[in-house]
Amino acid sequence: MKKYVYMFPEGNGKMRELLGGKGANLAEMTGLGMPVPQGFTITTEACTRYYEDGKTIYPDIQDQILLYLDQLEKITGKTLGDPEKPLLVSVRSGARASMPGMMDTILNLGMNDEICEAVAKLTNNPRFARDSYRRFIQMFSDVVMELPKSSFEQFIDQVKDKKGVKMDNELDADDMSELIVLFKDHYKKSLGEDFPQDPKKQLMEAVRAVFRSWDNPRANTYRRMNDIPHSWGTAVNVQSMVFGNMGETSGTGVAFTRNPATGEKKLYGEFLMNAQGEDVVAGIRTPQPISALADTMPEVYQQFVDISSRLEKHYGDMQDMEFTIENGKLYMLQTRNGKRTAQAALKVAVDLVDEGVCTKEQAVMKVEAKQLDALLHPTFDPAALKAATPITTGLPASPGAACGAVYFTADDAAKAHKTGIKAVLVRQETSPEDIDGMAVSEGIMTARGGMTSHAAVVARGMGTCCVAGVNGIKVSEEDKTLTFADGTVVHEGDVISLDGSTGNVYLGAIATQEAELTGDFGRFMGWADEIRTLHVRTNGDTPRDATQARKFGAEGIGLCRTEHMFFEPARIKAVREMIISDTLEQRKAALAKILPMQRGDFEAIYRAMGGLPVTIRLLDPPLHEFLPHEDDEIKELADEMGVSFDKLKGKVESLHEFNPMLGTRGCRLDVLYPEIAEMQTEAIISAAINVWKEDGLHITPEIMVPLVSEVNELRFVKKVIKAKADELIEQSGLKMKYMVGTMIETPRAAVTAGDVAKEAEFFSFGTNDLTQMTYGFSRDDVGRILETYFDKKILESDPFARLDQNGVGRLIRFAVAEGKRTRPDIKLGICGEHGGDLSSVEFCHNVGLNYVSCSPFRVPIARLAAAQARVKELGLA
Ligand code: PEP
Ligand code: MG
Repeated sequence: MKKYVYMFPEGNGKMRELLGGKGANLAEMTGLGMPVPQGFTITTEACTRYYEDGKTIYPDIQDQILLYLDQLEKITGKTLGDPEKPLLVSVRSGARASMPGMMDTILNLGMNDEICEAVAKLTNNPRFARDSYRRFIQMFSDVVMELPKSSFEQFIDQVKDKKGVKMDNELDADDMSELIVLFKDHYKKSLGEDFPQDPKKQLMEAVRAVFRSWDNPRANTYRRMNDIPHSWGTAVNVQSMVFGNMGETSGTGVAFTRNPATGEKKLYGEFLMNAQGEDVVAGIRTPQPISALADTMPEVYQQFVDISSRLEKHYGDMQDMEFTIENGKLYMLQTRNGKRTAQAALKVAVDLVDEGVCTKEQAVMKVEAKQLDALLHPTFDPAALKAATPITTGLPASPGAACGAVYFTADDAAKAHKTGIKAVLVRQETSPEDIDGMAVSEGIMTARGGMTSHAAVVARGMGTCCVAGVNGIKVSEEDKTLTFADGTVVHEGDVISLDGSTGNVYLGAIATQEAELTGDFGRFMGWADEIRTLHVRTNGDTPRDATQARKFGAEGIGLCRTEHMFFEPARIKAVREMIISDTLEQRKAALAKILPMQRGDFEAIYRAMGGLPVTIRLLDPPLHEFLPHEDDEIKELADEMGVSFDKLKGKVESLHEFNPMLGTRGCRLDVLYPEIAEMQTEAIISAAINVWKEDGLHITPEIMVPLVSEVNELRFVKKVIKAKADELIEQSGLKMKYMVGTMIETPRAAVTAGDVAKEAEFFSFGTNDLTQMTYGFSRDDVGRILETYFDKKILESDPFARLDQNGVGRLIRFAVAEGKRTRPDIKLGICGEHGGDLSSVEFCHNVGLNYVSCSPFRVPIARLAAAQARVKELGLA
């Protein structure tokens, strides 16, 4: 029979998957001989069974729970429900990864009318007994019966008012009796049944409630944000109670071995005498700093100090501990690796290596790569954020915190910026013309669009906070209003705050704090670079991006989207002119305007990268992003091109596509108009020649052909490229090399990668389009369905943010193998937005890519994620 329950001494710290973090650590502390109130852990597999069995705990598991309860009763010499020797227990959740505050806890289980009075007699402390019982009624009602804890507060106020006191601890034993009656009455009135008196029934219901809490909305959101799979489930810890509320020689507290805000090496925490754990958290009474325990109870303090330092050494990391003192005796209730700020995480990691507590490889695992965001972008002041309630939530498209006045057009945002106003740009969706306004805005919010929409990609590139795809809002550019689902209307100039790391949107201002890099950052990232084998490049379209990315440690450019070089208003016209040209002459005239701009940009990018590899992609403009839409724009362009408004309007209409993302873009443009590839090749190669001659930078340009799905497309375009490139290189007299490769971004290219590799010297996986086409989800519209898909457990994460390893990942694996079979030295990278996502970087490492490429501000994250993937691979974590 499968074992679903473990007594603490049967487990150990390595059994996190089965016992959850809390259970494994309680077992480990027991093994280390520390004072841990004994108990047992019901495994995560029991939780998984609960869900598989239609949210029921089958009798086989119930029997095991009762069997181990029996053992616990033998160990403690107490029995659940026995008035002579009553056992009381706590029931707490504990998942594999810690999810602080996301699930539920019940204390004092086993209390009923009879036991309460028995405890009162045994302890000679009726107030304590009745206080424990009333707390239990509240917690049980809240967690098990979903009757909110807050609905009981009115009765506490009622009794306090009657007595004329202000604080809970001014209530005596008789007042507690009165509260118990009121609480039970409220329970019966609200739920139509008596408060359960059978402790075994209470226990089973509590376990069921903890399993159920794994699926509560806040736990689901937390998991999604932290990449924790639903399938892991939570364990349940049933532990005999010790009481911090037995009187003045009892107390309870929490402490960290180091300061979790700064990382300073000093015991940090607080405690309350004569209290239960929830009092410390609830903030009803003001706790004392942990150092004050040295005066109150010097021996207990010394014992706690010794245990903390033993635990930190044992786990090789900063610990977050909970303890209780019962009648002068110390008990450890929990230890875990402590959550900490990004600054503290770096300092602790670096200090632990210097102190010889852990290796560099282990240190690299102690900073969550995602946390680095907080070091690179502004964040909200934590206290101000805690006090604020979001009005809505969208997709966390680009991290950081922004607070500013709302503007509805890029021009208005830019104008406001010029007068010194901090602007937040709110748009239905963004388009290339918005670039100037986006560049000067503190943050960007869009009603439409997914994680790879224009707004998301461009904002990430700039390092600007962005919340995209906010469902249920109405953005009216005309009325200059933003209307939220609840009817709240925001006008131009009103202030809102955006959290690009969570997707939360707030009305009004929340204080932000600037990013700050310390010396620890450089040392720490140096270790990550020593360890990792996967290279990290950047997606950068401008010399500014390139310079920024190099500062962040990029080792080259993996994707230069040449169409992004034309987002500036002066340049976009030339691209539009080219797109709508009717004749070869017109197109060549437009291309001739573009050529010098491109050459200049490429030279500047090559220089900024100082000889590091640069991959430049041929034009790939989805037409809907680039065509003029408004009549005045069409008119302006018509004048410039010397054609009539009607003719141009007709042309624009004729170019309309029903599915622009599947339309005339990528290499299809070069097949239709080879002169585009020719012009771009000239710009790429001649820029390299100039930089070679003028700066001595020996560059091997990598020319990348987008959206190939058939090798013949690549063969055709490659011929055009080669003819131009070879001609220019020959004329230059240099021994310059160049490479021609392709993006793998259609399922067909992946499936026929063996053929494609006959022509391609490198592959770069364009997982934005590959995800779009594999799922058949529009990357710009997927935001509309995602929330529902999450709620209905159809998807656990956004496949445009986190690589779908089962589907898209399979195509990548296959293409890697086929590509290598044809061309063993083929260079392999990824340049979709997944290149900066943690689990996706790990996948890329494991599947054998040479590099990932991501937006500049994600480069440090990718470097760390690559190092962590390597440490895991080597088993050195
Ligand atoms: C991709 O499709 O993954 C990609 C990098 O190209 P783009 O986002 O420009 O379509
Ligand atoms: Mg693409």
